[in-house]
Amino acid sequence: MQTITTIQQLRNALDPVRRVGRSIGLVPTMGYLHEGHARLVTTARAQNDEVVVSIFVNPLQFGPNEDFAQYPRDLRHDEQLLASLGCDIVFAPSVDEIYPEPAVTLVDLPAMSQVLCGRTRPIHFRGVATVVSKLLHIVQPDKAYFGQKDGQQLAIIRRMVQDLNFPVEIVGVPTVREPDGLAKSSRNIYLSQLERSHATVLYRALQAAVADVAAGQISAAMVIANMAALISAEPEVRLDYAEVVNAQTLQPMDRLSGSIMMAVAAYVGKTRLIDNVLLELPPLDSPNVP
Ligand code: AMP
Repeated sequence: MQTITTIQQLRNALDPVRRVGRSIGLVPTMGYLHEGHARLVTTARAQNDEVVVSIFVNPLQFGPNEDFAQYPRDLRHDEQLLASLGCDIVFAPSVDEIYPEPAVTLVDLPAMSQVLCGRTRPIHFRGVATVVSKLLHIVQPDKAYFGQKDGQQLAIIRRMVQDLNFPVEIVGVPTVREPDGLAKSSRNIYLSQLERSHATVLYRALQAAVADVAAGQISAAMVIANMAALISAEPEVRLDYAEVVNAQTLQPMDRLSGSIMMAVAAYVGKTRLIDNVLLELPPLDSPNVP
């Protein structure tokens, strides 16, 4: 495994790979890797000849009062983990390498970037879509891997790739969780022991929503109210949102049908956590819908 820090070196390394027809899988990350990231890498390893993992904490996706400077970083640990997972190339550029000048060209999907997390993080998904566009152009992978954990991000990347005709297949990877259901996240290290115990309410609320739907509930408002009540009742936890949206378009719905994403965000102490689950329901005009 080699660690590469410049775009030119990366192109020099990948051009011969591409020329002999070997497939390339890209896993974009911000580092401080855990088992969630590892699942993306092992999935990419199984499906490609060459695996590239990028590690880049992207300033463009952090708001002025967010944790860009404090975001945890540990390249040595990440390299060790990635070597053990069979990664071929770690691409770890500096901010100056990716943005030698302030970004003037931005990629945005306002209808999808201003909903859900976009309401509290208005520039976040524009930063994500822009840096992922750049990484896809730099690496030119056959497949790129994203976690369902960041469900809004995954839906936005899928739509961007479709709308802008990127020649890449986007692969979504299911969320990896702690034994008690908490989604693994680099930000979980911010939680105190007490906050960590309350943080499980996000997944518990989502499970309650799944149970509501399984019991025949098709009113989005009822499912949302139940999730919001559970999260709001938890000590140390402040609800940001509980929503049910179309999984592809991220638009809200009244009656649940088709591919839906149930998504929650909450502050546990000062740490903002997100989680979601996907459900496939019969379409509205199906005879199975009451
Ligand atoms: P990040 O480093 O937080 O930007 O995450 C990099 C990639 O790993 C994103 O595609 C995330 O969705 C994915 N990821 C993060 N946590 C998990 C998890 N618990 N399960 C699956 N994928 C994850």
